[in-house]
Amino acid sequence: MERRCVHRPDRRTLIKIAAGILLAPATAGELFAASSPAFLIRNKYSQLNRTRPQRQSTKFIILHTTEGAEAGALNKIRRYGEANYFVTKAGVVYRIIDKRRIAKHTGRSMWDGLTTIDNYSIGIEVVGYHNKDIRDSQYDAIRELLRQLKSLYDIPDDHVLTHSMVAYGRPNRFHRYNHRGRKRCGMIFAQPEVRARLGLESQPDHDPDVKAGRLRVADKKLFSFLFPEIPKPVLVASRENTVPPPPPPPKIEIPDASFVIGSSNTAWEIARERYDHASTLYTFPNGTKMSGDQISDWARIPAGTRITLNEVEDEDFEGFLEIGKDGDTAEELAGEYYASSTTIYFFPDGYIRTGAELKETSAGRGLLKKTPKKTMMLIGYIYGGRVKASRPAVNIAGRKWNYPSTYYRYPDGTILSGDDINPKKIPHNTFVFFQQ
Ligand SMILES: [Zn+2]
Repeated sequence: MERRCVHRPDRRTLIKIAAGILLAPATAGELFAASSPAFLIRNKYSQLNRTRPQRQSTKFIILHTTEGAEAGALNKIRRYGEANYFVTKAGVVYRIIDKRRIAKHTGRSMWDGLTTIDNYSIGIEVVGYHNKDIRDSQYDAIRELLRQLKSLYDIPDDHVLTHSMVAYGRPNRFHRYNHRGRKRCGMIFAQPEVRARLGLESQPDHDPDVKAGRLRVADKKLFSFLFPEIPKPVLVASRENTVPPPPPPPKIEIPDASFVIGSSNTAWEIARERYDHASTLYTFPNGTKMSGDQISDWARIPAGTRITLNEVEDEDFEGFLEIGKDGDTAEELAGEYYASSTTIYFFPDGYIRTGAELKETSAGRGLLKKTPKKTMMLIGYIYGGRVKASRPAVNIAGRKWNYPSTYYRYPDGTILSGDDINPKKIPHNTFVFFQQ
């Protein structure tokens, strides 16, 4: 019989092992403290996760506040795949959409000329309100999550933005131009003290799209909050040649908004883009109540009318605008692009044309001038043509074929987004529209 050779550790090895066991808890404790206490990420993936396409590039991290209670917000965000991460009140992080895939979180958005920022960013939804400080446990969790993501994607601190920084509005009754100031979401994360606690050492000092003239400022107060002038240390020549410490940043506080309409407090100031929404309630001084969608005469809302908001994160994807609802004319909605080849008109009778096509005929020019009510528009889109057996969607829209921002119009008039499409079931002669 063969004797099995059993290796017996000698005494010195045993001492080392024993010392290792004794050292282990202390070492683990140090590592634990070095990152953050109890940083936990749990999977709570949305059912849409598997179908969302991967982003081609990741330039930004966008911070949001839920503006509502945790349970309801989590349900909705999971159902619609509206964030990559969700940070609870207790500071636990949930994965909703894989970090490499597109989450629908910024809606109509622009930063430095790029539009639909979902296609370039990771979205983090934090349980809380735009004007209230978050909890210590949330600071710890977000700081660690940001540290990991910034390092993984090589994202600089001034590319960690808030939803309110990147959201923009199309012209409306109150602002007849493309504007910044559509949302207040996440604005607390623009405050320098808050950013410092999150380990963010810099922030954008100006709005690149306003500076370039692509957007105009629709709210000066919000704007100066989002892009504060941060005092820079000044070099002063002195005998000791020392640099004086920078003055402390100004304490900026977000005032509680008044919900009563007055001469300088319009319905838009109070309710923003939800001013004409069915869930926004107006109580007139005489006690009559109306919802936003029932009001047509916006010039005659009496001072003293109180607005009750059901303000949850509610993001319409960059997409269709409606004549008669979002604006009265095509030019009001699309500005200089109303007759462009990348502005697409869907007339109520099923007729579809680009602005450039309409401009070529006198009948088309008439339609542009007096666009029928309920005409839908897409701005900044390419009309890709029709799906055929020899021309599947992927040959038309390329890698954007299943982007949530890509739209399919079936021959029966149904419109589906790339999010909802089954590539094997797209009928022939379906039109495809995708963003530039
Ligand atoms: Zn948001």
